[in-house]
Amino acid sequence: MSATLLLRWLPALLAGEDHIAETGALPDGTRWAVLDEGVLLLEPADESAAQICLLLSCGIHGNETAPIEMLDRLLQQLASGAVANPAARVLLIFGNPGAMRAGERYLDDDLNRLFGGKHRFYQDSREARRAALLEQYAQRFFEMGQGQRLHLDLHTAIRASYYPKFAICPAQGNTPYIDSLLGLLQAVDVGTLLLQPQPSNTFSSYCVSQFGARALTLELGQARPFGNNQSLPLDEWLALLQRLLQGQLPPASAPLDIHRFAVTREVIRTSEQFVLHLADDVANFTPLPAGYLLAEDGAQQTIVAAGEHILFPNPAVKVGLRAGVLVTRIDA
Ligand SMILES: [Zn+2]
Repeated sequence: MSATLLLRWLPALLAGEDHIAETGALPDGTRWAVLDEGVLLLEPADESAAQICLLLSCGIHGNETAPIEMLDRLLQQLASGAVANPAARVLLIFGNPGAMRAGERYLDDDLNRLFGGKHRFYQDSREARRAALLEQYAQRFFEMGQGQRLHLDLHTAIRASYYPKFAICPAQGNTPYIDSLLGLLQAVDVGTLLLQPQPSNTFSSYCVSQFGARALTLELGQARPFGNNQSLPLDEWLALLQRLLQGQLPPASAPLDIHRFAVTREVIRTSEQFVLHLADDVANFTPLPAGYLLAEDGAQQTIVAAGEHILFPNPAVKVGLRAGVLVTRIDA
């Protein structure tokens, strides 16, 4: 099979063609295989040359198109030979093809809340089946490879952000690995970092806790429909991904201008009476005044403490889910 399929990967996926089990080789010898709908494995001709196992995922939320278009461009560069001889095994995952086709964040449930086995509690959900499948592919990918394990899960945010680009780093027990990824953040001008000490049900957190991967959830900017991402400077991201394909993690350099935040608490919607007292256009990471009544849920009130900022406010989530996160600067 020629590389033609890889050149028209995204249109084929959006047209509902799955191409499962098709395989081929690129002119430089790189072997590729479609493992499942939206799941593509690329391996260097000389597997012993692979220095890194790089899982790149996008479209975990179907309407976050910029990362989808970016990974499609990376794939075209590989397929056309513009980028050759990768020194990395790569698993490219287009997370939620059904939601991508619908232009929606998800179809039944938020996929990025279902990893780490949580999918078992959502029997009839299309996203639950997808989460179980993606867990299996991630496991096979990391366990069959050698070298450093790295997972970048690429997103765009529903809202604008006080700091336009930010990263979320799931912690790995007591062994902090974020210092090894600061150069990566600098290379793409991500100046805001949220450290997440507790395991959660996100894809990146799963890859950290299950496979000891280094992982980041990366928010590139604000979510827009396909073809409307010209305002996001994706070239520097592509340059970074090309570097990672060569097996190199960029080193950090001074000055290290990265703001670090930590989660203080989550705001959970526990009933239909839930009200979030926040305008729809309040940006992520906006600092809130101490004493402000942020949310009411029946008799329960959430009052802002000094130094807290709001992240991912979304009052429309289902009952039982997170309607927002409060974070605080830890390096101020
Ligand atoms: Zn997202």
